[in-house]
Amino acid sequence: MQAAFDVIVVGGGLVGAAIAYGLARQHRARTLLLDEGDIALRASRGNFGLVWVQGKGRGFPAYTRWTMASADAWPAFSEEIEDATGIDADYDRPGGVDLAFDAAELHDLATGMHDIRSGLNGRDYPFDVLDQRGLKNIFPHVGDGVAGGIHCPHDGVANPLRLLQALHAGFARSGGTYVARCPVASVQPQPSGVRVRTGQGDYSGATLVLAAGLGTTGLAAQAGMTVPLHPNRGQLMVTEPMPAMLGLPTVNVRQTREGSFLIGYTSEDAGLPTETTQAGLGAIARRAVTAFPFLAGVRIVRTWAALRIMSPDGFPIYARAPDHPHIVAAACHSGVTLAAMHASRLPDWIVGAEDAPDLSAFSSERFDVPTAA
Ligand SMILES: Cc1cc2nc3c(=O)[nH]c(=O)nc-3n(C[C@H](O)[C@H](O)[C@H](O)COP(=O)(O)OP(=O)(O)OC[C@H]3O[C@@H](n4cnc5c(N)ncnc54)[C@H](O)[C@@H]3O)c2cc1C
Repeated sequence: MQAAFDVIVVGGGLVGAAIAYGLARQHRARTLLLDEGDIALRASRGNFGLVWVQGKGRGFPAYTRWTMASADAWPAFSEEIEDATGIDADYDRPGGVDLAFDAAELHDLATGMHDIRSGLNGRDYPFDVLDQRGLKNIFPHVGDGVAGGIHCPHDGVANPLRLLQALHAGFARSGGTYVARCPVASVQPQPSGVRVRTGQGDYSGATLVLAAGLGTTGLAAQAGMTVPLHPNRGQLMVTEPMPAMLGLPTVNVRQTREGSFLIGYTSEDAGLPTETTQAGLGAIARRAVTAFPFLAGVRIVRTWAALRIMSPDGFPIYARAPDHPHIVAAACHSGVTLAAMHASRLPDWIVGAEDAPDLSAFSSERFDVPTAA
């Protein structure tokens, strides 16, 4: 055995790095973070960077509350991590808009938002349904092909690459140990603790956190856990920098602090390939130009695709192994939005702190199919 740690976290993407940072900083846990490497599938390096509340948790109020808690914690979280590391994650909370391209889509979006609000039993959940004129007040450059949109003041943005860098730097400064190019091949529960076998030798720890994105399913199965996840491909593009034209982000187009426009994104069940396609890029480009016609004259500088980590119902999974409660799994498709909770309240739950949040709604037991008597 090479070393003994309080906690081993497998997966150095946004989810694993946020958890590891929180464990090391907040709980002073001796934490080891193991990551597979550059050829791995990494959603954290390919996403759109929204810290997004609207539309989250229809039919699953625990997720709406968790998302809102994270969005509310983001301002202090971004300050804290900048103070600790000097890295600015470019966080802003100007509110955000989901655009609707026809009346039926606007109606569906508004119905979804009213459903989410009713699920919260009276908790404040502010949003406005905007017609085209309302939208033009926010976006003077919006195209006539947009019917309206939903505005939500809770929405914001961050730079996901800077965030990831900050989490790793914060983890290192809190005394954490990071080992890169270290794929975990096997998980071996022990009577007290756990051993993991890697390409760089074995490591032992008292607690194990599996946050390996799409790799979590296979590792969790070795500890007797069912963590069903599947890939969902998103294609994106980024333009050359331009003068400031969009004050608020939308789900499809946002302008970064540097001035470039991020244009997204597809949602495709296409297996593991991460190639872009002409059809996918064409579709998002057409939608972006309909939304903001001036984009037709702006040069695209890069396109890419990345894989979302999706559970069967689309909501996060935070689960403990039934026979090994010191082994947990964490997976979600909104790792930027939830980073503030993953760096604070999720570590409380992992170590079993007295005031830990109740995350039972997110257990993967919700996917167990009842067998006929
Ligand atoms: C197109 C797209 C747009 C998105 N937009 C947003 C957005 O706007 N806002 C938002 O909040 N979220 C967004 N997301 C989701 C967000 O990117 C993910 O939720 C987040 O990145 C997931 O992070 P992760 O750490 O779980 O996974 P990953 O980033 O995939 O990281 C998993 C890590 O585990 C490691 N690993 C895997 N197997 C092993 C192993 N056996 N041993 C050791 N290490 C292993 C890999 O090396 C990898 O680094 C988007 C995702 C996509 C694809």
